[in-house]
Amino acid sequence: MSSIISDKRVNISPDNPSIVFDKSKCDECGICKNICKFNVGVYSYSNEDYPCINCGSCTIACPQKCLSERDETDKLRKILHSDKIVVFQTAPAVRVSLGEEFGLKPGTNVEEKMVSALRMIGGDYVFDTTFGADLTVMEESLELVNRIKHNGVFPMFTSCCPSWVKFLEMFYPEFIPNLSSCKSPISMEGAIIKNYFCKINNYNKEDIISIAVVPCTSKKMEILKFKDIDLAITTRELAKYLKEEKIDIKNIKNGSFDNLMSKGSGGGVIFGTSGGVMESTIREVYHILRKRRPSERLLNFKEVRGLANVKETNITIDGVNLKLAIINGTGDARKIIEKIKTGEVHYDFIEVMACEGGCIAGGGQPRVYSTTNEIKIKRMKGLYKSDKKMKVRCASDNPDIKMVYDDFLGEAGGKIAEKYLHTTYTNKKVK
Ligand code: SF4
Ligand code: SF4
Ligand code: SF4
Repeated sequence: MSSIISDKRVNISPDNPSIVFDKSKCDECGICKNICKFNVGVYSYSNEDYPCINCGSCTIACPQKCLSERDETDKLRKILHSDKIVVFQTAPAVRVSLGEEFGLKPGTNVEEKMVSALRMIGGDYVFDTTFGADLTVMEESLELVNRIKHNGVFPMFTSCCPSWVKFLEMFYPEFIPNLSSCKSPISMEGAIIKNYFCKINNYNKEDIISIAVVPCTSKKMEILKFKDIDLAITTRELAKYLKEEKIDIKNIKNGSFDNLMSKGSGGGVIFGTSGGVMESTIREVYHILRKRRPSERLLNFKEVRGLANVKETNITIDGVNLKLAIINGTGDARKIIEKIKTGEVHYDFIEVMACEGGCIAGGGQPRVYSTTNEIKIKRMKGLYKSDKKMKVRCASDNPDIKMVYDDFLGEAGGKIAEKYLHTTYTNKKVK
């Protein structure tokens, strides 16, 4: 590892919680630098030695694999061999990429095998982060409606991507009031695990180790803020661990998630892809404003899907016109924010994901194939197929969601929900 500043590549601080750099393999091709500059919009935009939003896009791009996630599989092994109660949650994008590590086609949904594998390695409980995504939708849709009703700050930005949040805090802190105050799905679910799940099972918080399996290197940074999750391991780390344990997901029985947070809605599943947060939130905004289930158009909201760098559309719900934008990559977010500042464009609600394609193309995803658009589309299709097959497509129709609000959180947007599911941000302006 090296901390020597170079102008040929990205510079990774030795204490970066997400990414490590192995100089011995680096031929200084500069690919990482260009990705970080043009796609992520970070390199060269400050005078910091180690400007980084922890997205891991450079780890996907580096042909020599000398940039990688901070490997915490040893920590995982230690936890799994301890006497603690281990609670896993798995993010939506992992199930449509993990199979690639075991010779399956990109986009193959291995949800049931993955759950089974997590039990085989010692998970006591396995929950689905799509439940946390539904919580995010419940809170974020209400926040948008409240901003509309009470003349709030617009555009409202989504906040579920920690790299995007850090980007905004570093480069555009004047837009902090525009960020939704919602925590991300894993952090909402982490709070529910430590505070509600423990309570109803008579566990002390200290007896539980909460682990999130994620497509994302940035989540290793995010969990340091909230402390409800003890470890975040990427798809690549999980695959490495399973291989070390000689578990081939192709040859094991199917398993199913534990009750309580067993399932999210279809809307929760598509959180893993660009446009998914927008689509599922708009489904719920429709429900709040029209008091009925969304139309077929909103259940297959084509205008917000796909890999275009910036997707935009208008929608009118109950007389309220909303101009929506979905931004694929913080590099493009930079361009759009500059235009918002000059008044050249106006939007009401903007989804931003740091990784181009969303979490299906996250920095912790498999590198078996290079992450081309073709591979991204296959993973995306895997998620949309799941959504379409599901009986429950909207967060508020999810019986587990209703139960957790009734039994613990109270009203969406209420005081208890505020305490566990929302957050604040910090001005981290860079020079
Ligand atoms: S992409 Fe990899 S090999 Fe190329 S400069 Fe960056 S770290 Fe070095
Ligand atoms: S993790 Fe993202 S922000 Fe950090 S150096 Fe790599 S590409 Fe740039
Ligand atoms: S887009 Fe998803 S995978 Fe990429 S940094 Fe954001 S949350 Fe992580």
